Amino acid sequence: KRIGYAVVGLGHLSLEQIIPALGGCKKSKLAALVSGSPEKMKRVAEMYGVTPQNCYSYENYDKLKDNKEVDVIYIVLPNGLHKEFVVRGAATGKHILCEKPMANTAEECREMIAACNKAGVKLMVAYRIQFQPHNRKLRELVQKKELGEPKFVEASNCQSSANPDHWRHKLKLAGGGALPDIGLYCLNTTRFVLGQEPEEVFAYQYSTPGNALFKEVEEVMSWQMRFPGGIIANCSTHYNVHESRHYRVLCEKGWANMDKAYAYKGQSLSRAKADGKMELHENIGLAEVDQFATEIDHFSGCILDNKQPFTPGEEGLQDHIIMEAIYKSAREGKPVKLAKENPLAGKK
Ligand code: NAD
Repeated sequence: KRIGYAVVGLGHLSLEQIIPALGGCKKSKLAALVSGSPEKMKRVAEMYGVTPQNCYSYENYDKLKDNKEVDVIYIVLPNGLHKEFVVRGAATGKHILCEKPMANTAEECREMIAACNKAGVKLMVAYRIQFQPHNRKLRELVQKKELGEPKFVEASNCQSSANPDHWRHKLKLAGGGALPDIGLYCLNTTRFVLGQEPEEVFAYQYSTPGNALFKEVEEVMSWQMRFPGGIIANCSTHYNVHESRHYRVLCEKGWANMDKAYAYKGQSLSRAKADGKMELHENIGLAEVDQFATEIDHFSGCILDNKQPFTPGEEGLQDHIIMEAIYKSAREGKPVKLAKENPLAGKK
């Protein structure tokens, strides 16, 4: 059986990545659409063979409850709408896949997790990098200590944006600026690669005065995370510079580097290692896969085998807890400690 997905929100990510990826999935298929634009939905439905009775508006979305072809609701709306649609979606009894960032606040994440637990449905946050082979390989190198003890991480995810009217620049719909949108990749991928949770953060934030793009949300966030054993991650994200997405993990006996780290494709993994007096530098070539299809099939596999997803709701909650500490540190100009207990305890 292929798991049927209802895709909610037909914006760039749905139309350019998710819906095409569903066509290449092995365990998953597109079953229904939910949109606020009937004309756009009709066009998309005809293109992908979705029947008119499997097309829903935001108002009659709750009727998905009666649709036997739908097993999963995939939320691909602006961040500020994730909570409402996850909570309503869980009440239909369907499993939920939710785009990153999970919500606007940690409190919203808690409500979403509680709603899914109450309904007895699975909840996964779409952290595609955790399913991407080059990033998984780098994680393996680091966690197997092939380059010695990890000591330091440099991670940066930057791009430029031009439209101040877009929801990404409205605090209520975006929940923040560069940090929750793209800086989140540095945060989540660093945690994933190290397999550890930060104990403390320290941050610096800036927005150019008078720039309409950054009236409500931050332009740049630069932050450090200290992990157990003293590993420091130096992270940065910017909404007003040329695209740049990379990270490097510096270890005692070598380093591993990822270029185009958080992109949809084109990841480039390399490592350097001391060998006596020689410095070995190696590119590690791996086959490209569709990250979106891999991630979606992972969730379908969890449903078919009744397993917990690798990136459950608690993964999204933990990132929001850390992002709130980052904002607090930037506001107060001092380091902020994180609680030792985290929502992922016993989950991974
Ligand atoms: P988008 O602006 O292209 O699409 C958003 C869709 O939501 C549009 O179809 C829009 O009509 C609809 N919408 C419904 N109510 C709205 C409202 N009140 N205001 C504005 N739009 C509204 O955005 P996108 O880039 O597709 O992002 C959607 C979600 O996917 C976000 O949570 C984003 O963070 C996430 N995303 C994830 C990735 C990834 O690589 N995993 C990449 C891009 C976006």
